[in-house]
Amino acid sequence: MSVALIYDPIFLEHDTGTGHPECADRLRSILQHLEPLRDTLLWLEPGPASHEQLLLVHPDEHIALVEHASSLQRPIDADTQTSYDSYEAALKAAGAGITAVDAVSSAKASAAFAAVRPPGHHATTHRSMGFCLFNNIAVTARYAQEMGYEKVLIVDFDVHHGNGTQEIFYDDSSVFYFSSHQYPAYPGSGSSYETGSGEGEGYTLNFPLAAGSGDADILPLYEESLAEIAATFRPDIILVSAGYDLHRADPLASLNVTTEGIVQIVAAIMECYDAPKLFFLEGGYNLEALGECVAKTIKTMQAYD
Ligand SMILES: [Zn+2]
Repeated sequence: MSVALIYDPIFLEHDTGTGHPECADRLRSILQHLEPLRDTLLWLEPGPASHEQLLLVHPDEHIALVEHASSLQRPIDADTQTSYDSYEAALKAAGAGITAVDAVSSAKASAAFAAVRPPGHHATTHRSMGFCLFNNIAVTARYAQEMGYEKVLIVDFDVHHGNGTQEIFYDDSSVFYFSSHQYPAYPGSGSSYETGSGEGEGYTLNFPLAAGSGDADILPLYEESLAEIAATFRPDIILVSAGYDLHRADPLASLNVTTEGIVQIVAAIMECYDAPKLFFLEGGYNLEALGECVAKTIKTMQAYD
């Protein structure tokens, strides 16, 4: 079996405006770095997430707001811009996760990487923010549960805390949220005291890292803590918010993680538990580091195929 790469050219058409770090060139760099791997991957084009699938996470009003903002090419907040094609791109970014789940459940692929934009992990139930319109990984988690993957582990190594994903599953014991991130930093959440509530108490785990933290600080979280959590939680599927802005070269954040460190994080995720693994592109704003690290992520995924 092969690793699936889920991509659609519509992702290039989500236009955030001149000088915005979350730009189409991010995906162009990724595609360029994937060129040597092109024939080894199963390329799949996503369909748009259906209204019913989005409703698994977002209420009607929120979906309508994104569609409306996009039709008027209006920003949703100071960071979060839309253009005419943003709504379709956002539907397919969420749909990429649906395609990924279908690919592993039908045994067409062993694992998948969804090279999407807009990203998703900051989008809360009711609100688009931080470059994110819909929460792609959350919609995928709920769809996966409908498909019989009852227990979902979400691993988020983006340098920013995935406040949206945490909020959506905060009181839910069927979805474990594991995040490492620079702290304090945008969006402000993600302290180690945020551990879930009600039924979900103990099913959110945050690992805040001080600015300047590097490979030696972050690797034990993945090689030791993640492995322990996965062995206890026993997920049916593992979804990964793969943000590459933890790289030392990233212009938006201040961790000091190397390319090799990122490869080791990915390897630790691949080894943490025997369940299908679906990766979703989140952040990463140094174009060269992003392209190189995504290609190395996929090579590492293939090594476990
Ligand atoms: Zn980020």
